[in-house]
Amino acid sequence: MKKLKLLIFTCVILSLSISSVYAATFGYSNISGIALHQYDDYSSPITEILKIRTKLKITGEKDQWYNVKTESGEGWIEKYFVTVPAEKYVVNNTPYKINIRTSPASTSKAVGQLNPGDKAKYIDTYHSWNIIEYQGNECYTASWLTDLECENSQKIYILYDKTDIRDKASFDGNVIVQGNRNDSYEVAGEKNGWFKINLPNGQTGYVPGWLTGYSQNYYSGRNLSYKKTVGNLNIKSGPSIEYGNLRTLNGESLVKVVNSENGWDKVVCQEGNVGWCSIDSLKETYPLSGKSILIDPGHGGKDPGSISCSGKYEKYVNLETAYKLKEILESLGANVYMTRDDDYYITNKERGRMADNLNTDILLSIHHNSLNNSDYFGLSTYYNTINYKDPSYGYDLAEAIYLNAITTNGIYRDGILDRNYEVLRETNTPAALIEIGFMSNPNEEMNVHNESFQYVIAEKIANGIIDYFNNKN
Ligand SMILES: [Zn+2]
Repeated sequence: MKKLKLLIFTCVILSLSISSVYAATFGYSNISGIALHQYDDYSSPITEILKIRTKLKITGEKDQWYNVKTESGEGWIEKYFVTVPAEKYVVNNTPYKINIRTSPASTSKAVGQLNPGDKAKYIDTYHSWNIIEYQGNECYTASWLTDLECENSQKIYILYDKTDIRDKASFDGNVIVQGNRNDSYEVAGEKNGWFKINLPNGQTGYVPGWLTGYSQNYYSGRNLSYKKTVGNLNIKSGPSIEYGNLRTLNGESLVKVVNSENGWDKVVCQEGNVGWCSIDSLKETYPLSGKSILIDPGHGGKDPGSISCSGKYEKYVNLETAYKLKEILESLGANVYMTRDDDYYITNKERGRMADNLNTDILLSIHHNSLNNSDYFGLSTYYNTINYKDPSYGYDLAEAIYLNAITTNGIYRDGILDRNYEVLRETNTPAALIEIGFMSNPNEEMNVHNESFQYVIAEKIANGIIDYFNNKN
């Protein structure tokens, strides 16, 4: 699906202004529905329940806990549930001056310049622009004109065994060596969703960001499992019967298992509490059991969708990713339909109506984006507020998927947007559309065709769908 660049930029300019900076270290919550507590103690009162990828200003720490501030309050959270990104700098490695702007658009006001060789503290990436700290404010520099670099002490950890490390930030690069889970490397920089790492032999290598985490035993949500309590159950403050009781859960309560140790599961409850349960008191469950989902791989047949810089058709990559998502959703207990299961054409109206006719709980349309500017990249989700009985339905789904997806290294934010797309408009079913990346950006196009990328993003989308249903209950 193409979008109108001017429209986007106009909206951005209208909606953004310079906001004050988060001066201290910041991190993000890496799981949905986790509680902040008043003290560094799970028996202390809950002050707030966080969504996944909530930005947290870290103001202090004590043992395994961070003291953090959110937009609405403050409290304590276990470090395990906070992802602290590597400290990065935006560096001008060109011989030219680069403008520092007030919003992510070439037409926005320039408030300063980065001279050749200058660096500025990196905060995040949004709409293909790097957000930097400049004179106490958050400002923007064009990501395609600058490099991201790290100080030497920063580390990155490999998430999976036998991960290829290459000599270029591209799958065209030769494999130099393979890394295994929890192997750590000094990270020197980041480009196109890949990390540049220092190898022990002094060489430099590159690894896809989505196969890495920022800490050892990084909690990525990848192997998140759900269980139910067998009967009424006291959850403990540690992994043995000797620990004190934190609270009592009723039978059939749903919990998220985030770690296991010596026959005990560490769990997050629906109410945001964390504690330990003996595995004998929990049973496996399928979190999407009883839910029916319509996946719509965009385009098909005579309609190729976007055509990438290397001549690949969007309709095929939509279908590849849709099939991986179907497999994962079915393993979680969902009843999954597809609007098309092969390369044929159907109208967007038919796709929307199909969700109503099948009476599915949700509709998710899968696309890959394109613009006539190859610098642009990022993941976005869409909802439509026209024709909905409850406009928040589509938004909640679009938001839950987006927030989960952008916890992945190498996936960058392009926003949650309200668009009058036909597939979303022509249905009464809660519906969202995802644009996973840009086919018009050579690097992102290469990444979205990679199987490991497709599996990681399908898993993140599935976690988002689980969050959507859990939040509704
Ligand atoms: Zn499309």
